[in-house]
Amino acid sequence: MTEVELGPDGKILVPGPVQDAIRTLIEWAGDDPSREGLLDTPKRVARAWKEYCQGYAEDPGLHLSRTFEEVGGYDEIVLLRDIPFQSHCEHHMAPITGKASIAYLPKDRVVGISKLARVLNGYARRLQVQERLTAEVARCIWDHLQPHGVAVVIDAQHGCMTGRGVRTPGVGMVTSRLLGCFLDDERSRKEVLSLMGY
Ligand SMILES: [Zn+2]
Repeated sequence: MTEVELGPDGKILVPGPVQDAIRTLIEWAGDDPSREGLLDTPKRVARAWKEYCQGYAEDPGLHLSRTFEEVGGYDEIVLLRDIPFQSHCEHHMAPITGKASIAYLPKDRVVGISKLARVLNGYARRLQVQERLTAEVARCIWDHLQPHGVAVVIDAQHGCMTGRGVRTPGVGMVTSRLLGCFLDDERSRKEVLSLMGY
């Protein structure tokens, strides 16, 4: 992770070589990087990429460090469904857009529900493959909350498939990672997947 420096305008300073790289890519794609509409594009692209990849600057597990042990005897599934997210595929740096459903069956402790979305974003805002994103989110919750079970299902579209290559807009890819009781116990698995709408 390269440190970022801010300019006097409060925006991230973009080093010359980074701007040059984007200019080179524009030229190679067939346009003229010195035409007016493209003059500031290298800086904008670079800053956008810092934002797409914000996850490198954080440890997503930290979002799960504050837990609540007083759960009033609640011992059922906690589910955050259809969380929208954006990531980028590491093969083409093309957008991956989709939604994730994240569930766990708590053992003694729970977290604020928004934290599950923060964990997702911490991993999504990196260069990814969907399978690894799914596994990383599940593993993070498993390690930090030590629940009875974790289930993560991600349904996403890949820009590298919809906008190039086979060009199949609308096609979603579904990946899942089940741990603990959701893996071992068929009834729990069916319950969580049906709550998620699968
Ligand atoms: Zn790709």
